[in-house]
Amino acid sequence: MNQANQMDEAQLRQAQMELSRILSGLKHEVPIYLFTRGGHNEVFNDAARQALRFFRQLTDKIVLREYDLSHEMAQQMGIVHSPTLVFDPDRYNVRWLGAPLGEEGRIFLEVLLRVGTGNSDLNEASLGVLKKIDQPRNLKVFVSASCPYCPQQALNALKAAVAKPDLIALEIIDIQANADLADQYGAQSVPQTFANDVLTALGAQTEELFMSSIDKLEQQTIFIPESDATEVDCQLVIIGGGPAGLTAGIYAARSGLKSVVVEKGVLGGQVALTPVVENYPGMKEVGGKTLVDIMVTHALEYVQIFPGEEVVDITPGDPHIIQTSRRKFRAQAVLLATGASHRNLGVPGEERFSGRGVSYCATCDGPLFRGKKVFLVGGGNSAATEALYLHNTGVAVTLVHRRDRLKAQDVLVKQLIDNGVPILFNTEVKEIRGENRVTEVVLYNNATDQSAPQPADGVFLAIGYDPAVDLAAKVGLELTDEGYVKHDNFRTNIPGIYVAGDVAGGFKQIVTAAGYGSEAALAIFEDIIDPYWKKE
Ligand SMILES: Cc1cc2nc3c(=O)[nH]c(=O)nc-3n(C[C@H](O)[C@H](O)[C@H](O)COP(=O)(O)OP(=O)(O)OC[C@H]3O[C@@H](n4cnc5c(N)ncnc54)[C@H](O)[C@@H]3O)c2cc1C
Repeated sequence: MNQANQMDEAQLRQAQMELSRILSGLKHEVPIYLFTRGGHNEVFNDAARQALRFFRQLTDKIVLREYDLSHEMAQQMGIVHSPTLVFDPDRYNVRWLGAPLGEEGRIFLEVLLRVGTGNSDLNEASLGVLKKIDQPRNLKVFVSASCPYCPQQALNALKAAVAKPDLIALEIIDIQANADLADQYGAQSVPQTFANDVLTALGAQTEELFMSSIDKLEQQTIFIPESDATEVDCQLVIIGGGPAGLTAGIYAARSGLKSVVVEKGVLGGQVALTPVVENYPGMKEVGGKTLVDIMVTHALEYVQIFPGEEVVDITPGDPHIIQTSRRKFRAQAVLLATGASHRNLGVPGEERFSGRGVSYCATCDGPLFRGKKVFLVGGGNSAATEALYLHNTGVAVTLVHRRDRLKAQDVLVKQLIDNGVPILFNTEVKEIRGENRVTEVVLYNNATDQSAPQPADGVFLAIGYDPAVDLAAKVGLELTDEGYVKHDNFRTNIPGIYVAGDVAGGFKQIVTAAGYGSEAALAIFEDIIDPYWKKE
């Protein structure tokens, strides 16, 4: 035996001793059932047997049984893939489709340890998320022998299955041994995780994000720990986690105000609904969801965010009492950044082609239609401004208005005429048509009662916004004639209550909402902190 072989043998013995030491921590027996079908996947069947034999040498806690796939036990358990390993089926629902090869050896060891000790080893935050899951989750984690990231994701899934065996079932699936399943799920890269057949992760996640993704049944990219507090004291409560609210949070907290952001729906507000943003400075083209993640991650450096929580009432006073669906906040100042939503036309094709030719924002999407023919629906100042914007961007725009004159200011109407922007009066868009994108609109002339299809590459809608002012109205904030919250430099008619972003009117853009959010936070800083400085 040469020196190199002696070294290898010594290292192997040392590794085995270390594994024996680790496995001596198993508290009880780990029954493992191996199901195989002779002549099918033999390489993997043998590899599974060898791995099991290897681990059995190291601990007497493994109790192994092997069955043919034709055995009634396989039928009872619904097992059809060879090889399949089933771990301690009386306690858990953990299966392995394939054999623990390469990197998967690490996962196999973890399965033995978790199943053999009953200890999921989950951290508190993850256990908190898992506690919320009250419906079954069938997890599938696709892995491969050469994937160094797979053990982490498989371990996350295993911990969930061990912590909640009544609701969580797990299949760890080797894609080489189960090419049919990998094809069926489109799992061409690993690790990939499905919960109840919904893709919840591409790649490995942190433990908390994994639990959050299987809870919400969609891939989560940011984990925000939940708070159990029923009452929270702070200086500023920001209502709304869109760009205005998040920016205000960053500015307020950085200026020393203890601030929180409360968001009832999806963090990011309207940005989370935007497929691609092309006009946010510093980012030539960025997905709306990605921009939201960047903003939220940044805001979390400074402010506590309370997601999934609606502010239902505000009682002005000193302090203001802010009641949410989950708790009560007491704060010196409140900032409303509740946003707005654009109005819909409500015609066939509008929803189907939204983002594929139908747009609600000329400033956002206009450049995509340069040299193309579009109809812009509306008759007010926004419609006229947006039509001029499109015209100046090089878009062949026709304004469509259902009345016989525009509501827009004379100066804007004159500019439309001077620039030769065609206007169709008494005309309504009745239908938007196309295959994958808009190709045609049906125009109806309400004066002549005639309809006709017209070729079109796009339809822009500028028929107004509905600002989210229910809460503002309930508290008694004054509104403008257009229905936005009235303010003087972000200060409303109730002292200590402020407003920013789309709900305050003005331009409705991400960058302006962020700008207004920062200005409002600085105004609040002046009102709350400055007076104390001035007194000193
Ligand atoms: C489809 C689409 C595409 C767009 N594209 C672009 C673009 O490319 N570029 C651009 O600059 N702008 C774009 N915009 C506009 C831009 O997204 C908005 O102007 C901006 O998001 C407004 O920010 P905000 O923070 O004021 O409000 P919002 O983004 O509307 O956020 C307000 C938040 O407040 C929350 N909220 C409301 N009431 C409560 C309550 N009672 N309790 C707790 N939370 C509450 C809401 O759930 C919401 O998340 C687009 C808008 C849409 C809809």
